[in-house]
Amino acid sequence: MTARLGVDALALNPVDLEAAFSGNRLRLKAFLLDQARIAGIGNFYVHDILFQARLHPLRQVNTLTGMEVEVLIQAIRERLAYSLSLGGAAYEVDLYGAKGRFEMAKLLVGYREGQPCPECATPVEKIKTGSTSSFICPRCQPLTPELG
Ligand SMILES: [Zn+2]
Repeated sequence: MTARLGVDALALNPVDLEAAFSGNRLRLKAFLLDQARIAGIGNFYVHDILFQARLHPLRQVNTLTGMEVEVLIQAIRERLAYSLSLGGAAYEVDLYGAKGRFEMAKLLVGYREGQPCPECATPVEKIKTGSTSSFICPRCQPLTPELG
């Protein structure tokens, strides 16, 4: 099963990720959660990764700029490192049976529908993204950002 896993999320580099994005019309959240493409990003964390990168989950990956790809990789590293520093999610149990301390209260926008965005205080929205739901700040993560 591990043979089918994609590249480790913490080992992503901008050149390879831009190459994987180019010509691909998948939505960003679906791409990030596809364990055959990128291993290690769970649904629990993906909302905050996209929020920190200021990217909408429904962006088509081939529309991301080089700068956005770099910001995205930075956000993946920082959010996963933060989670790991707290021992993983509270519902995850490590090899020794200890529960992680990464709880809902430590999320930025994930599962915080109606609560103020930590950046701009706009209420966090829960939106449908394909078969799943996503949590975003509609102001910080517009679907079509203004260029320039
Ligand atoms: Zn915001």
